[in-house]
Amino acid sequence: MITKSIATNKHSQLLNITRLVEEAVDESRISSGVATIFVSHTTAGITINENADPDVTRDMLNLLERMVPWSDPDYRHFEGNTAAHMKASMLGNSTQVIIENGQLQLGTWQGIYFCEFDGPRQRKVLIKILGN
Ligand code: ZN
Repeated sequence: MITKSIATNKHSQLLNITRLVEEAVDESRISSGVATIFVSHTTAGITINENADPDVTRDMLNLLERMVPWSDPDYRHFEGNTAAHMKASMLGNSTQVIIENGQLQLGTWQGIYFCEFDGPRQRKVLIKILGN
């Protein structure tokens, strides 16, 4: 398992971590297999989406905020970050990418995003690469 540290710098943020995952693939020396990327936090997630137009991640964050507002008089969770927990579950805490010829098989317009919903914080991403 490879652990990568990430420092987020906004309250909500989609951070492109594709390069970090590529580094992990290089370190593993596995040329054919699968990379599992796992976020071990309850207020952050992981997703794969558009890497070219930054307005896509902006729009995604805005839509998530509209669907799950930060404050609501009905929330009961004592930490006050119910919305962050909800968004983390909506996007999920892991993803997988196939590796061939030592390269992640992402589409041209795909990037792997760490999804911060209660930052800024020091975070970590766990990457496990299995060969076949
Ligand atoms: Zn909480």
